[in-house]
Amino acid sequence: MKILHLSFECYPIAKVGGLADVVGALPKYQAKLKTESNVIIPFYDNSFVRKSKKKELYQGKINLGNQFYEYTIYKNESKKIAFNLFYIYIENLLDKENVYGYEDDLYRFLSFQLAALDWIKNNEVSFDVFHCHDHHTALIPFFINYCEDFIDLKDTSTVLTIHNAQYQGQFSHDLVNLLPSFDTNYSGLLDWYGQINPLATGIKCASKVNTVSPSYMEELKEKANGLEGLLRTEGYKCVGILNGIDDLFWNPETDKMLVKNYKQTNVVSGKRKHKNELCKKYGLNPEYPLFGFIGRLVGEKSADLLPEAIKEAISKDKEISIFLLGSGHKNIEDELTNLKEEFKGNFNVHIGYDETLSHLVYAGSDFLIMPSRVEPCGLNQMYSLRYGTIPIVRRTGGLKDTVIDIGDDGFGICHDQASVWDICYSINRASILYKDKTFFRKIQKKIMKIDHSWAKSAQDYLTLYTSINKPSQIYND
Ligand code: ADP
Repeated sequence: MKILHLSFECYPIAKVGGLADVVGALPKYQAKLKTESNVIIPFYDNSFVRKSKKKELYQGKINLGNQFYEYTIYKNESKKIAFNLFYIYIENLLDKENVYGYEDDLYRFLSFQLAALDWIKNNEVSFDVFHCHDHHTALIPFFINYCEDFIDLKDTSTVLTIHNAQYQGQFSHDLVNLLPSFDTNYSGLLDWYGQINPLATGIKCASKVNTVSPSYMEELKEKANGLEGLLRTEGYKCVGILNGIDDLFWNPETDKMLVKNYKQTNVVSGKRKHKNELCKKYGLNPEYPLFGFIGRLVGEKSADLLPEAIKEAISKDKEISIFLLGSGHKNIEDELTNLKEEFKGNFNVHIGYDETLSHLVYAGSDFLIMPSRVEPCGLNQMYSLRYGTIPIVRRTGGLKDTVIDIGDDGFGICHDQASVWDICYSINRASILYKDKTFFRKIQKKIMKIDHSWAKSAQDYLTLYTSINKPSQIYND
């Protein structure tokens, strides 16, 4: 079976969040299941793409409205990537440095999808499944079913994975001319609440739809930024498949970004070394329990609650250390930065994105805080388990599916509400746990053994692909 993953992110080439980790890891595990996994992403103007060896495969043209764009398909030849990787180059559209945040993002998303389909249609390449990731590539199932230009591809099965339903890519019907001409009997498939909504269209038209954890799918059926009713109606083809982690990369025994590798048998000394390093660098006391946080500083992650929670927690207990790594909303960044002076010695923050530092935080922290309001799957908690760091999570989405409270014979600390009070209560429970060294060490060792590798999830995806008889021509009767 030949799969083509269409995505705007793929680790290590272009990463904003978990989507990159998934697209950069799942193909490697699919290859072990004798599935040929291919990935196509934009040709970013970044050092990875510039430096890596690649071969030009094809040149073609697409149009968005009445504007023509030339595109070039490249195949990666760098050995650093263990699966077939293709790039699409379009001058001034797909050759940008960052992944998102440009005024012409809509043009970038559309041109990427159209160039990918145009290349496949005009060449000897074929795939059994188009695996689309998030709204950026969610119009593919519509294009192949209802656009004359791509109708030859209509027998290709399609899977849409929703990594985050908050972002749906809506745009006005006034821009419908940017799309290739389609059978207007089906224009209703493009609409959701008066706008063209790529994510909604993907949910309607894909052969199968999945979220990145079972609980997130159930939650979306209740509340999904307007898509809840649609997900309930299309529920017969929707499932939740938990993300895995790339345990070849996220492994304290082999992790090249660590100061010293460690495993279960020397977890205490291994973690101590990283904790000392982190605390020394950021002026924290290594004798106190160290609470880490890594992530986007946005409301979804409850980052807006963190400044207040930090003040409360440290005011109540002077014997804790908290370290945050993240970037996001400017006001949250500023609030956190302002706390550094007041809580010097107990709290520090690094504003920015730093992959190496993130590994140090996973390895050096005693606890990792994830009080998210929304967490489609969450990878941080699985990384932290692997590194012997006890997760403190709000029971939501994938966090609910992967962390069991110590009170229920589990290994983590869980709370229900996204509130300052709940976060502080959990920090307090963690501090008490930290003082019971025997129990604390037992939990540390226990969590390192939990297997969250992609092996099972890759098999679940294969089952999903093979459950598709034909693309869903459900609206064609
Ligand atoms: P999301 O995709 O919602 O941001 P996930 O938990 O799915 O959240 O994935 C987050 C990934 O991004 C993890 O690999 C995490 O380590 C990484 N990450 C997030 N913020 C930072 C940061 N500031 N520096 C380094 N890595 C980060």
